[in-house]
Parts: sequence; structure tokens; C-alpha cells
Amino acid sequence: MSYGNLETLYRQVIMDHYKNPRNKGLKDGDDFYKIHLKNPTCGDDITIQVKIDNGMITDVYQDGTGCSISMSAASVMSETIKGKTVEEAFKILDNYLNMVKGEKFDAELEMGDAIVYQGVAQFPARFKCATIAWKALAQVMDEHNGNCTCDHEE
Ligand code: ZN
Repeated sequence: MSYGNLETLYRQVIMDHYKNPRNKGLKDGDDFYKIHLKNPTCGDDITIQVKIDNGMITDVYQDGTGCSISMSAASVMSETIKGKTVEEAFKILDNYLNMVKGEKFDAELEMGDAIVYQGVAQFPARFKCATIAWKALAQVMDEHNGNCTCDHEE
């Protein structure tokens, strides 16, 4: 496949996630980690909700408004990390950030549709759009790792 065809395929995947976002819409319940992030330069505004059970990401929801890159990336992120452990999700996250920065990344790592964002490396202005949902995920996982949310009885 020539690079041109691959680029077209990647664009189709991105547009599919933009038009048919996965795991869209927030849920009630306080057993979710919830993070809201904004990208003022583009107007992207994203909230993600993540449920982590025994170190496993069991549920992910996302909602917000913004450009096609940020909205599709939120959909892709939710689909990619659901069912992964926090440890696996951190690996995917690191690999994804390296990829969209145009740095060396592991092409063998299973990243689902997230792999289609490698073209972003050629458009540094879109870096924030492609990473806002993933940065929200990073904050969720940091919070999970750093702060136990279980109820401690005195
Ligand atoms: Zn954007």
C-alpha cells in the first residue's frame, strides 16, 4: 500500500470515530474517575469517565465538543484502553505520545485504531488535539495510582 492510500485509510478511520463516537455520553455514579480538560487554542473541551476495578479499566465514557481530531481521538482512546490494565494503558499512552510527537515508537504494540494518528507528527499544531483525551486518561491513572479512593474506616 502506498503512503497516499494509507493516509486515506487513516483519514476514514478518524472520520468514522468522529461521526460515530464510541462510549460517548457521561454516566451517573461516583465510582468513576472523572477528568475535564480544555484546549483553548482549538476550543476542544473533553470530559472522560473511567472505572478501574482491581487495576483493570472496566469502563470508559467520554463527552465533549471540539475538532474532528480531538473528538475522534477521545473515541479511539476509550475503545483502545477499555479492558486493559492500568499498566498496559500507560504503555499504550507512552507509545501513542511518542508516535504523535514523531519520535521513535513501538509499532508492534497493540494500539487498536490509535495507530492511525501517526500522521499527526507532521502537524505539530494538532498535537494538543490528538492528545487531550489521552492526557485526561493519564491524569485519571495518576490519580488512581497515587490516591486510594477506598473508604478508610477509623
Ligand atoms: Zn482540536
